[in-house]
Amino acid sequence: MNRDLLQWFDQGHRSMPWRDDPNPYYVWISEIMLQQTRVHVVIPYFKRFIETLPTVHHLAAIDDEKLMLLWQGLGYYNRAMNLKKSAQIILEKYGGHLPKSKDELLTLPGIGEYTAGAIASIAFGQKEAAVDGNVLRVFTRLLADSGDITKVATKKRVTEAVMKELGDRPGDFNQALMELGALVCLPKNPKCEICPVAHHCKAKEQGTQESFPVKPKKKEAVHENKTVFVLRTNGQTMISKRPEEGLLKNLWQFPLVDGHMNRKDATLYLREEGYDPLRIKKGPSYKHIFSHRIWNIHSYIVDVAEMVTNHHWIVQDELSEYAIPSAFSKILEYIEHEK
Ligand code: SF4
Repeated sequence: MNRDLLQWFDQGHRSMPWRDDPNPYYVWISEIMLQQTRVHVVIPYFKRFIETLPTVHHLAAIDDEKLMLLWQGLGYYNRAMNLKKSAQIILEKYGGHLPKSKDELLTLPGIGEYTAGAIASIAFGQKEAAVDGNVLRVFTRLLADSGDITKVATKKRVTEAVMKELGDRPGDFNQALMELGALVCLPKNPKCEICPVAHHCKAKEQGTQESFPVKPKKKEAVHENKTVFVLRTNGQTMISKRPEEGLLKNLWQFPLVDGHMNRKDATLYLREEGYDPLRIKKGPSYKHIFSHRIWNIHSYIVDVAEMVTNHHWIVQDELSEYAIPSAFSKILEYIEHEK
């Protein structure tokens, strides 16, 4: 199977900046970005990140606010903070060079089994498997393995099967598997007719491709209603920093309260908070989906008589200098187009 897959990969694969120049720093940054985000979204972020922070030294020294701004839109901001923490450890402990072994990579914040295996194999040619959701799907189909893929025992079985196939180009083999999962062995309607490893595939033989991978039923996402206020006066807008812990920690947001408020309740609420609302109009209403949580957002754009001074007011044009998560993008777009 190794030969068939690599032959297919060698005949042509998608160009990606970190593939075209697989230096360890690039591989590491790209793997972290790709943990929750698709390739076509990652590419422009990756290029901007590398232009701004071309080495581990730059990353270790970047100001937190600037780092958040570079990451803005990618979500899961912990990843960015872990990159910086890891860069500082890499400088202190490894002289600025990423460690080569999977075990050492695993000691860095934000690097788990999959990412350590991917970096060790792609950047350093180590014989390590890199088993993520795509590889679990491909391999449980190849083996017709009906184990629950969220279970450690199934992951272990798949990892062992991948290890046996790694051959002498483990980095390319792992990337070829990822490519196969992304382009051919799709979750729905896998393209078995063009699959380079079809004749190794037990699920194909049985005609049961779409029964794999086996996973438990998804937990229902929690729906939360939120009301967001864009408060403005004299060209200034109010933003506040989110708490140091929890969802979207340390990022900036427009004032936000739990629940939906109608215009009358919103006016009363703002008065209680010490504002004098002169004009209140409806802003966008939309859903923002996190991994297990959905915010149903209603928003109001409010002109107030004056600033409440113990809050953070900025000139509206400066909003782009603050890391405001994508949960608020629709509101940012709305006020941008209002101009
Ligand atoms: S034959 Fe079909 S199910 Fe099997 S690995 Fe290839 S694409 Fe996936």
